[in-house]
Amino acid sequence: MMRIGHGFDVHRLVPERDLVLGGVNIPYELGLLGHSDADVLLHAVCDAVLGSLGLGDIGRYFPDTDPTYRGVDSLILLDHVIGLAKNREYVVGNLDVTVVAQRPKLAPYVEEMVANLARACKVTADRINIKATTTEELGYTGRGEGISAHAVVLMIKA
Ligand code: MG
Repeated sequence: MMRIGHGFDVHRLVPERDLVLGGVNIPYELGLLGHSDADVLLHAVCDAVLGSLGLGDIGRYFPDTDPTYRGVDSLILLDHVIGLAKNREYVVGNLDVTVVAQRPKLAPYVEEMVANLARACKVTADRINIKATTTEELGYTGRGEGISAHAVVLMIKA
């Protein structure tokens, strides 16, 4: 039995915030704004996994009105979501992510992001793919106003 899920998220880039993507702290003059660490990549992954199992979305489990999750490391959120999947005997078959950011260059950090995701998803790194693209300076991501991420996951009954 296989189930597929899709996730999409956007966060605004602002001064005086850390830029955290895929659990990696990336040096940049702006960071993503959000209640948690605003790791847009991990949020898209959480939504993809939740979506695949018909479990709604990340806001259902970690409401941004709950002070518990203020500044939380989104790897903790993903860990919880993977636990929900495990309870239903589903594991990640493969996961494919696209991050849309005009700047900074993400290629140097992709390997570490993949390692973080593999650890959180409890699978080997060959099941995880992360791509980064710009939008050729078009739209809100192109103007550097924010970063978005898309994720597609195939979950397999263990
Ligand atoms: Mg988010």
